[in-house]
Amino acid sequence: MVSGAHATIELARDALTSLADGLLLIDDGGKIALLNPRAEALLGVPETAWLEMPDAEFYRALAKQAARAENLAPRFEHCAQRAVEMPRLEFALRAPQARVIEATWFALRGAHGAYGVLWRDVTRVKELEEMKSQLLSTVSHELRTPLASIKGFATTLLRQDVRWDEATQREFLRIIEEESNRLEELIDNLLDMSQVEAGALRIQKEPVQLRRLVREAVEMAQRRTETHWFVVDLPSELPRVWADPRRIRQVLNNLLENAIKYSPDGGQITVRCEVDSKRVTVSIADQGQGIPPEYLERVFDRFFQVDGANTRRMGGSGLGLAIAKGIVQAHDGAIWAEATPGQGSVFRFTLPIVKELDLGQNDDDAG
Ligand code: ADP
Repeated sequence: MVSGAHATIELARDALTSLADGLLLIDDGGKIALLNPRAEALLGVPETAWLEMPDAEFYRALAKQAARAENLAPRFEHCAQRAVEMPRLEFALRAPQARVIEATWFALRGAHGAYGVLWRDVTRVKELEEMKSQLLSTVSHELRTPLASIKGFATTLLRQDVRWDEATQREFLRIIEEESNRLEELIDNLLDMSQVEAGALRIQKEPVQLRRLVREAVEMAQRRTETHWFVVDLPSELPRVWADPRRIRQVLNNLLENAIKYSPDGGQITVRCEVDSKRVTVSIADQGQGIPPEYLERVFDRFFQVDGANTRRMGGSGLGLAIAKGIVQAHDGAIWAEATPGQGSVFRFTLPIVKELDLGQNDDDAG
């Protein structure tokens, strides 16, 4: 019997140690009786300091680590006093790590005044919620704008009481076509993005001659702007790379489109390929507004835009670079940005080159 009880205590101790949530138990004298390892890690409370610490002192120490001055200590105490009602409080910590924590108080029935607190890390859940609402606002804005214009021009053209001359009719139809393309592009991007996220992006690699892809993409970009000029710098020997030509064209188009869009005053756009023993590095450099250093990695996050409202007005969903990253990574390559605010941005990506050995069974030249 004694060994049975002992075993139960051991099991309970084990359970507390491996619990995914932090647990704090306060005895009927208002002092800490237990803080499991997860709570220590999550809340950054020094291991030796906590036992028998009065709960108010603990709350004050914790409140000092909060990300915002939210008057947290009295709110923690207020929850502790109402533990029977199982109150819940969400707060953000800046130390030991930036985290969003949800705390739930509960009364312990055995001893009057004793209570417990569960600390749950809800950072990821919050991020997902944030992303979802960003998705909704982007999608609804991006879908509505072209749709409103398509509908408006179609209704105008169909009016019985007005006769539009042919030039006006064509102009209205041109706008309808352009806006439909914009809609189509957004829907394609959303589908690509969901494939990237599910790890289901289909890539059909073959040996590809980049020279042609780069030239075609630059010609297309040049047709879209009158204020930019393009410089293409390719080595005389450019080995073939393993790539899905359709997908790499998509990456090139996206980077060139951004180079144009984010250098609104025009200027030079340089496309360069450099070769080493394993890979080709393609770079696209513009002379535009650049990117603040703290955002160089985040620009590849979906929906992220350095200057959200302003950028959306320029027409963009914040998906292009996230998709480009997914595509390049599916090619075992890397993509990154280097930029100096005010002096332009450089985007680079790598693709593995085709070794003669690889070609043994699969020598269909796409170049
Ligand atoms: P968007 O549809 O907004 O262009 P992207 O995913 O292509 O979406 O780019 C994400 C963000 O990265 C842009 O909103 C912009 O803030 C920034 N960005 C991308 N390319 C450039 C560039 N060449 N120069 C400066 N900022 C850029």
